[in-house]
Amino acid sequence: GKGIAVFTSGGDSPGMNAAVRAVVRMGIYLGCKVFFIKEGYQGMVDGGGNIEEANWSSVSSIIHKGGTVIGSARCADFRERAGRLKAAKNLVDRGITNLVVIGGDGSLTGANLFRQEWPSLLDELLSTKQISAEQREKYKHLHIAGMVGSIDNDFCGTDMTIGTDSALHRIIEAIDAIVSTAYSHQRTFIMEVMGRHCGCYLSPCASTYVISTGFKCFHPWVAKFIILFKMDNDHPALDVVQSLLESLPDCVGPDEDVFSDSQERSAGQRLNIIIVAEGAIDRDGEPITAEKVKQVVVDNLKQDTRITVLGHVQRGGSPSAFDRVLGCRMGAEAVMALMEATPETEACVVSLDGNQAVRLPLMECVERTKAVAKAMADKQWEKAVQLRGRS
Ligand code: ATP
Repeated sequence: GKGIAVFTSGGDSPGMNAAVRAVVRMGIYLGCKVFFIKEGYQGMVDGGGNIEEANWSSVSSIIHKGGTVIGSARCADFRERAGRLKAAKNLVDRGITNLVVIGGDGSLTGANLFRQEWPSLLDELLSTKQISAEQREKYKHLHIAGMVGSIDNDFCGTDMTIGTDSALHRIIEAIDAIVSTAYSHQRTFIMEVMGRHCGCYLSPCASTYVISTGFKCFHPWVAKFIILFKMDNDHPALDVVQSLLESLPDCVGPDEDVFSDSQERSAGQRLNIIIVAEGAIDRDGEPITAEKVKQVVVDNLKQDTRITVLGHVQRGGSPSAFDRVLGCRMGAEAVMALMEATPETEACVVSLDGNQAVRLPLMECVERTKAVAKAMADKQWEKAVQLRGRS
């Protein structure tokens, strides 16, 4: 059977284990020899016990676990050809010519480069007598299938990355917890949610969830949510706030000053929660930190204001049902893609498109993702939205 290896790379995310499990079991089911590579590219470069053959039961009882049980790492060695040469030797030694990489755009870029270099790496291994001519011939094609594991939902081509849904659940739980204490006092709470430069994806998703929950649970004591995120800061940040508030019943109207709190207070409004995306910037490109927002609130509302930074809590914990199923589906599809690959097949990334698992050209998606990040860095918001497309 074919040799397949699966590894997780870059930041961990809930649902990665479900994906690893699916790769192992689908691979074994189809008669492949499946390996784990521990600690991402570092394990591939270091070899030895880091590359271990998997069996059916070695992935038992992992689907419900957060993070990645096979470890993840950032690996400087793999960025150098010398590191990739070592990695190639380790793979050939074990007969592995199919890789399933679960990670972010960096990890997928590395995998694609590795695939492009593969023939020349094998030539070098042959000329330095580290592999035989038979091995050079037998393992001449490397196939790659990627999946995106990230809580940031920042990858072009997929509707959801593995881990986003769980992170949103975690944020909602945290907001619920804060809400109960916020009700009890006339305080404003500022919550900073993760998402690096892509906080603009996670925080509006969170706010959508929160607002919909808010209508059901808190109405008519509707929470005030102020979402500051990068993409809309081309508009003055407060316009975003204003339009959000306008969409909520029993909140301030369009002509009111966002920070004039009296109307909601007199209507019984006690809840003020502000969600700030990590990485948010103002229209001059300056970071909008939770501290800065706090200052604005204190200056304008003269209200007791507390900051909660959710940090890595958002990334940890059990995957949601959605992420478990997503990981399973993506993992199975990745193995199918490798089984069907011909020498001409380009590296693919397995994505979710309207509830269908699809295979897309890996580098096209990576390049689009990078172009979005660049457009955002250049404050070309409309271009960023266009490039990102509907997902
Ligand atoms: P996250 O979204 O969590 O940051 P990522 O996959 O984008 O995930 P990176 O740190 O960018 O995370 O990449 C993970 C690893 O992939 C790197 O440590 C490195 O080993 C490898 N890698 C990334 N980019 C390249 C590249 N251009 N060439 C070779 N290897 C790379």
